[in-house]
Amino acid sequence: MNILIIIITFFSMEALTWVIHRYVMHGFLWSLHKDHHDKSNDSKVERNDYFFIIFAIPAIVMMYYGKTHGFNGWFYIGLGVTLYGMAYFFVHDIFIHQRIPFLRNTQNPYLLALRRAHKQHHKHLGKEEGECFGFLWVPYKYFKMYFKKA
Ligand SMILES: [Zn+2]
Ligand SMILES: [Zn+2]
Ligand SMILES: [Zn+2]
Repeated sequence: MNILIIIITFFSMEALTWVIHRYVMHGFLWSLHKDHHDKSNDSKVERNDYFFIIFAIPAIVMMYYGKTHGFNGWFYIGLGVTLYGMAYFFVHDIFIHQRIPFLRNTQNPYLLALRRAHKQHHKHLGKEEGECFGFLWVPYKYFKMYFKKA
C-alpha cells in the first residue's frame, strides 16, 4: 500500500508542478523564475533554485510528522514528493540544462523528447506566454517526434 502512495504522489507532483510552473512561477513568483529564462547571467546558482527549498520544506515536514506517528501515510507522501524533487533535479537541471555534464549525447527517445519540449519552453523569455510547462511529461507530439525514429 505504501508503495502505491509513493507512486500516486509522484505522478500527482508532475501535475501540481505543471500548475505551479504555469501559474505561480510564471505568475506572482516570476521574480524567482525569471533568471532561469534569462541566460545572460551564467552564474552557477539561480534564484530559481529557491523553488527547491520551497518544495523541500513541506516534504520534510510531512516525512517528519509521518515518522513520529508510526510511519503513517504522510511519511510516504513526503517521500513521494522528495523522490519527485530528485527526478526533477536530475532531468531538468542536470540532463536538460547540463549543470553537470551528463547524458549529453543520449539517444533515449524519452529524454530527447523531454529536452526538446523544455527547450521550446525556454524560447519564451517573458512571463506571460509559454508552452510545455511539464517536466517529466510533455505534449504527446514531442514523444512522437523521437519514438518514431527509435
Ligand atoms: Zn518557465
Ligand atoms: Zn529550464
Ligand atoms: Zn523554465
